[in-house]
Amino acid sequence: MKHILLIATGGTIASRHTAEGLAPRITPEELLSYVPDAASFCSIDTVQPINLDSTNIRPEHWLLLANLIEENYHRYDGFVICHGTDTLAYTASALSYLIQRTSKPIVLTGAQRSIDEDTTDAKVNLLDALRFACSGKSGVCIVFGSHVIAGTRARKSRTKSYNAFTSLNFPDLASVHESRVVRYIPYEPQGEPVFYHKLNTRVFLLKLTPGMDPAAFEAAGKLCDGLIIESYGMGGIPDVYLEELDKLIRQGKTVIMATQVPQEGSDLSVYQVGKHVKDRYHLLETYDMTLESTVTKLMWAMGQSSDPQEIRKLFCATVNYDMLF
Ligand code: ASP
Repeated sequence: MKHILLIATGGTIASRHTAEGLAPRITPEELLSYVPDAASFCSIDTVQPINLDSTNIRPEHWLLLANLIEENYHRYDGFVICHGTDTLAYTASALSYLIQRTSKPIVLTGAQRSIDEDTTDAKVNLLDALRFACSGKSGVCIVFGSHVIAGTRARKSRTKSYNAFTSLNFPDLASVHESRVVRYIPYEPQGEPVFYHKLNTRVFLLKLTPGMDPAAFEAAGKLCDGLIIESYGMGGIPDVYLEELDKLIRQGKTVIMATQVPQEGSDLSVYQVGKHVKDRYHLLETYDMTLESTVTKLMWAMGQSSDPQEIRKLFCATVNYDMLF
């Protein structure tokens, strides 16, 4: 029988109604009491390092989770993390960079309704996540609403419906229906797992809106070592910001161009408004990556090195299916 570590971190799945609104109150043991069938296919230990609405999750919590998994890696066949849905895609992305080449499943799940509600999706999601964690080799992924999504590809695309997550620009890895796991993409990690212990959190995501004050570039530059510009369409920089962009690049900031459009990704080489900055500065761009992955990958890459060339190399290497380009 497979041995799984259930890591509870809070979120709706573990919340109760309080006078102040929904808040995480349910212990991991109580969570398991709602899914007695799990005992028929795995043995489970539990730990609750934090108990938060995921709105309050910060990069130090990603490092804490990665360390917890590293310390327990050889004791378990897989890990299931119960997590709030709001920032679940960020945590899944961050763990994809902090724990690479894992052959043991690291599965994140959550729910749109608390596990103690009659109409909850939590029991199915938790059972599916445990089932997937017992089903063989896998990397960091999300199991939610029957979908198994690569940790770097998820977006919370619905605030209320049960199918809250979408895999952006990449197919689902697998699906789970009752006790059946159907894998669409084989997973064969090469070599031993690698754990990383550092993030540089001085990353800022600047979303362009028509007419935005150019001073926003200078303000963002003061807050960060790495700036992600969330531009329009395939990507471009409005002329009024070129001077500010130039200053940031001369200050040695890593600048990455991304797009506000969730599907199909950027391509700066298509339009003059993108091509001239790409050619002039060899700007990095996100192509088909999600913004959640872009933010966490840049934190990870800048955590490993402060050399711009090395950051560029780390950012451009595919990790856990995060970019196809
Ligand atoms: N606010 C909750 C959280 O992210 C939402 C959820 O879990 O669905 O913790």
